[in-house]
Amino acid sequence: MTKKNPQGEVWIFAEQQDGKLNDVALELCGKARALADVLGVKVGAVLPGYQVAGLAPALFAHGVDRVYLVDDPNLRRFTSAPYAFVMEKLIDKYAPQIVLYGATPLGRDFGPRVASAIRAGLTADCVELEIGDVVDAKTKEEYKNLLYQIRPAFGGNIVATIVNPERWPQMATVREGVFPKQEPDASRSGELVEEKIALDPSLLCVEVLERMVEEKTVDLKGARIVVSGGAGVGSKENFQLIRDLADALGGAVGASRAAVNCGYIGAEHLVGQTGVTVRPALYVAVGISGAIQHIAGMQDSAKIIAINSDPNAPIFSIARYGIVGDLNQIVPWFIKAVKERPTE
Ligand SMILES: Cc1cc2nc3c(=O)[nH]c(=O)nc-3n(C[C@H](O)[C@H](O)[C@H](O)COP(=O)(O)OP(=O)(O)OC[C@H]3O[C@@H](n4cnc5c(N)ncnc54)[C@H](O)[C@@H]3O)c2cc1C
Repeated sequence: MTKKNPQGEVWIFAEQQDGKLNDVALELCGKARALADVLGVKVGAVLPGYQVAGLAPALFAHGVDRVYLVDDPNLRRFTSAPYAFVMEKLIDKYAPQIVLYGATPLGRDFGPRVASAIRAGLTADCVELEIGDVVDAKTKEEYKNLLYQIRPAFGGNIVATIVNPERWPQMATVREGVFPKQEPDASRSGELVEEKIALDPSLLCVEVLERMVEEKTVDLKGARIVVSGGAGVGSKENFQLIRDLADALGGAVGASRAAVNCGYIGAEHLVGQTGVTVRPALYVAVGISGAIQHIAGMQDSAKIIAINSDPNAPIFSIARYGIVGDLNQIVPWFIKAVKERPTE
């Protein structure tokens, strides 16, 4: 466990692969900036890799004050042990008060290893992060300016606020898309801190010989319009209705967990807490009840249209426009209306 340092910085792990920063790292910069401003401290980014110093300006532009660069040929490709060791050493040296990781496959491997090594806590898949005070119900001790690590819990039946008053740094992972990426400010600059950390050969026992990267076939995050289908669609064949509506509107196809589990569509289309978080201009939810885990991934859409046969479906509580009825009737009408609308 590292020392508790209320003046410590707010850090992010600047995840990069092949010299390209992961989107979630830049999204975390904006959140870290906001938290650090409340605390009156600086934002740091830990950037391990090889020949990656050129990524520092992008981090500065997104709100980072200090980039801790560990440039080493052994860190060219991510492997858990040396990356975790580097983070552990830096945390030990600088005692940040908060460390944020992207909940990417890499971050999910790396974050818990760091937490275990330094005996700190880690809250996975946070959907919000805030700064606030806490009074211990038993001891009545008051803790100021803790990180509220907010995430659905108990199968999504509650939204839990988790705090970590003692075992610092306070650490959390956040899925890609949960926080919007802030506009970069190219005029911002910061300090590049170059760190040399000796890596014992025992840490380098894994060698990456080849990396196969599957190209993303679905871009839900970047879509201006998303049409999602749920269990109410009823079958894989009927899911064509959702695709047709998405085509007519020029949007991407999303889905609820139930639709994915029923095999109507692949998991790469999943929207929600365990899928993609989207913020399109228009989100059309068809045959989706509106469970908290689904809503977590689309509630910030600018406009939501819900189509559901149950007038009491929770999705209607967040929809701008609700259409109560059978989707098998409404969606074809919708498609027809879109196709027949006059073009300017
Ligand atoms: C840890 C955890 C993580 C989860 N993560 C996610 C996640 O990321 N994303 C996600 O979506 N879910 C997630 N879930 C699952 C979530 O709790 C719900 O079970 C799921 O979202 C329900 O999907 P649905 O709305 O399609 O199905 P249902 O809840 O079964 O709703 C179907 C809806 O269709 C309507 N309907 C039926 N027939 C018609 C018709 N003919 N016309 C119009 N409407 C009709 C019904 O009225 C109903 O409202 C998660 C659950 C857990 C426990």
